[in-house]
Amino acid sequence: MEEKKGHIGVTTDNIFPIIKKFLYSDHEIFLRELVSNAVDATQKLKTLSSLGEFKGELGDLTIHLSVDKDKGTITISDHGIGMTEEEIDKYINQIALSSANEFLDKYKNDANAIIGHFGLGFYSAFMVSKRVEIVTQSFKEGSHAVKWSCEGTPEFTISQVEKDQRGTDIILYIDDENKNFLEKAEIERLLKKYCRFLPVPIAFGKKTEWKDGKSEETDEDNIINDTTPLWTRKPADLTDEDYKKFYQDLYPFTDEPLFWIHLNVDYPFKLTGILYFPKIKSNVDLHKNKIQLYSNQVFITDSVENIVPEFLTLLHGVIDSPDIPLNVSRSYLQSDHNVKKISGHITKKVADRLEDIFKNDRPQFEEKWDSLKVFIEYGMLTDEKFYDRAQKFCLLKNTDNKSFTFEEYKTLISSNQTDKDGTLVYLYTSDKNEQYPYISAAKDKGYDVLLFDGQLDVHLAGMLEGKFEKSRFVRVDSDIVDNLIRKDDVEDVKLEDKQKENLDGVFKSQLPAIEKVEFNIEYKSLNENVQPIQIVQNEYMRRMKEMSAMQTGFSFYGEMPDTFTMVVNTNHPVIKNVMSEVEGKDKADVDKFVIENPVLKQLVDLALLSNNLLKGESLNNFIKRSTEMITSSK
Ligand code: ADP
Repeated sequence: MEEKKGHIGVTTDNIFPIIKKFLYSDHEIFLRELVSNAVDATQKLKTLSSLGEFKGELGDLTIHLSVDKDKGTITISDHGIGMTEEEIDKYINQIALSSANEFLDKYKNDANAIIGHFGLGFYSAFMVSKRVEIVTQSFKEGSHAVKWSCEGTPEFTISQVEKDQRGTDIILYIDDENKNFLEKAEIERLLKKYCRFLPVPIAFGKKTEWKDGKSEETDEDNIINDTTPLWTRKPADLTDEDYKKFYQDLYPFTDEPLFWIHLNVDYPFKLTGILYFPKIKSNVDLHKNKIQLYSNQVFITDSVENIVPEFLTLLHGVIDSPDIPLNVSRSYLQSDHNVKKISGHITKKVADRLEDIFKNDRPQFEEKWDSLKVFIEYGMLTDEKFYDRAQKFCLLKNTDNKSFTFEEYKTLISSNQTDKDGTLVYLYTSDKNEQYPYISAAKDKGYDVLLFDGQLDVHLAGMLEGKFEKSRFVRVDSDIVDNLIRKDDVEDVKLEDKQKENLDGVFKSQLPAIEKVEFNIEYKSLNENVQPIQIVQNEYMRRMKEMSAMQTGFSFYGEMPDTFTMVVNTNHPVIKNVMSEVEGKDKADVDKFVIENPVLKQLVDLALLSNNLLKGESLNNFIKRSTEMITSSK
């Protein structure tokens, strides 16, 4: 046959500049596309053979990849079904580009959708090549091998050639800008990234071995992939060690996972995969997007946003589903019917697994809680369905390191922590050390205090207040202990104006000026054993400020100063004494009294110290004054 010339059937004048332009940043996917075409061609032949439609010998089906740096070529050879001349015309000259056309037309304003998430299949070869050749011999009897050649213009040539083996060679003549793909190390990197788990053996070069102190090539093919990765195998055939080893293969040098879920769905969508719960040692360890997404064992991406619910992106592992559409932009994914079902299914499986461990091995669950917590709380906060499931096994941990379910905790505190209006008050601390005096005061009253020192704990508390009936979460330092859970009203002490002015003069004057901090003063008649002065911060205001620090739109609260309340216990002997000393005095005498009694400043400083408000110069002065007092009392 003579060489024939033809014109590629596209409506766009010349699609090649578009391929180069749009896919510019993601050049490397050409290798994924071409190798998966080779895999598809091989799989098809296997299927035909098992159906009896191909009666010849399958032979060695290994796909070979080779790089010739001198010629500037990359060759991908398979022993699959090959193509006849008619098929080249149909699949390469016509079809491939008409679907690409349609796609480019639809997303011409969304370059991101094109880049990375849509392989242009065979034509992605032109992202890196100045010329591409196909030399192919169909498995069909009586067909003749053909060679197709195209230089990145709509013109191509096709001619009959001799080829001794069935299958297809794709030969890329790499262009000048992409010479990096002729480096062995670069190809190895791409093969590892995209082809590591493809279902047909792929050989790149020969195995090497150490001989006489240097590495030498052997005759054996260097197979770069594992054709039956763990997720494609039956769970019953696998041991814990297999799962752990696979995890190490995926994420070298990480801690062992806590546990895993082997996903396997056939209907109404196809999905396999293994999800691992990583060990989280601290909040800093949170890494999203460690899940790798595959489609029939071809690596697609490690960003699974919009495919699984956000909280699940904290998990690690592999999801393989040919039913996740890849040729749409990310924003379309969420509304895709299959993706919704897949995401719902995964959420359910994850909840099942957690509930299972909780029910059957609570000690293990509690032991792993610290690592699981962020993940579960994140899920509860962001996914209503997950909340419904997780409320059965979400744990609340108290300052004594004991864990309770929501129900158990409610039972624990309901008799002692219900206030006079019938509201159940959950006390918590965000820092066991810093709020120690307040925790201790609460415990002395027989209250239980929850440890909420995790990133999401306070957010969860806010949510639970809405979910639980008549309940409130209150931080231990947000009021004096008698007011945390009001059993009966603690009355404000009624002071005459003059007396109040004098006392304010005594106590308020002792407070340091701290930027963006304001103090109110309240006089309360508390038990005489209660601290003479305490400093507390209102729960509501503090939460508003905390929220404003985390999100925009709350800037009003963020700008406000921190307001603390200094509570003076008028029944404490020291305060009683001060009150009688300043009673009826004028301002000058009150000031004199203050100067002569440094112990007053000491009392206020102690209250500030309990709340971590005594810092810098004030702290230094406090230490000096204390030392002087101790020295002089000797
Ligand atoms: P897709 O693979 O998505 O169908 P491609 O542009 O990658 O699109 O390929 C178009 C068609 O060309 C394939 O469907 C297949 O029929 C044929 N083809 C491509 N590569 C090969 C190959 N290595 N062996 C046999 N046929 C191939």
